[in-house]
Amino acid sequence: MDGRERLRAYLEQRRELGESEFVLDNMSVDEALSAIDKLRSTAPARPGQPAQPVRPAQAPAAPRVAPAAAQPAPKPAPKPAPKPAVAPARVSDRVPEVHEQSPNAAGDRNHSAAGEEAMMTEKQGLVVGNANGTLFEQNPFHSVRSIDALAKLIEDCTRCPLYKTAKHAVPGSGDQTADFMCVGEAPGANEDETGQPFVGQAGGLLTKILAAIDLTRDQVFITNVLKHRPPGNRNPAPSEVEACSPYLVRQIQMIKPKVILALGTFAAQTLLETKTPIGKLRGAVHRYYGIPLIVTYHPAALLRNPAWKRPTWEDVKLARHVLDSAKS
Ligand code: URA
Repeated sequence: MDGRERLRAYLEQRRELGESEFVLDNMSVDEALSAIDKLRSTAPARPGQPAQPVRPAQAPAAPRVAPAAAQPAPKPAPKPAPKPAVAPARVSDRVPEVHEQSPNAAGDRNHSAAGEEAMMTEKQGLVVGNANGTLFEQNPFHSVRSIDALAKLIEDCTRCPLYKTAKHAVPGSGDQTADFMCVGEAPGANEDETGQPFVGQAGGLLTKILAAIDLTRDQVFITNVLKHRPPGNRNPAPSEVEACSPYLVRQIQMIKPKVILALGTFAAQTLLETKTPIGKLRGAVHRYYGIPLIVTYHPAALLRNPAWKRPTWEDVKLARHVLDSAKS
């Protein structure tokens, strides 16, 4: 990695954490990233190498529904995740790849995993809505009675302009009565092609993350905040989120999961109606209309920042623990 690559990775990491101010000169993260891209496009090619192409800025950043709040002051680099209160030998920082080290491996779930769970404390987080869900009744799709019927409406949706550029709507997939629901940001290119959520590289990683807590994709319901792909994977616009959110709300209401796993800054900040950076939202059990909601990094962010695999493992262990507690 050359200096520019490292700086880019760092800035993308800051943006994933929901920070948009750049400490040195108040340049926004987006401005800095685009300055790096300009440098890259004007840099002479090294001998024997083609000039580097300009990469579009990608990662999701700010929330799209919460009212604009003052940006927090720039923060120091993220601290390493706190050590879990479990025997280190059991905790992998290569979670998705090392299924054997997950709590459920080798059928030992009732032994050391139970011990881990007993030690796991649940920090209470934000509360959105009340448990009886009165706000849900204001949903324009309140009278829709099934996930399939809702999916049909999503396929024909023209509530925002994204349907014009998308190839397929991506309503969501999995068990319509799942106890565990994953919510991502928006379909990408592969999802747009297939109409299925999380089928690209990030989707492969999500499948492994779920397997690490003993869940298959068929056992969970996977969806996104936005049901149509924003062109070029740009960040969703607030108006798009506003138009699309009732579908997600109705899905949650019908599926009635026992746990929601919000994948990445965008899903977390949208559902929790906050601009709090993801680094601060992790590690707590929030409530979304009474449903426990855990926040973790987006699998695409994990692909760029392998150091986040360990905190992600902590998050999904917490989600599994909350799920097990809710079922027992
Ligand atoms: N990223 C998302 O947030 N959702 C998908 O479905 C795929 C990638």
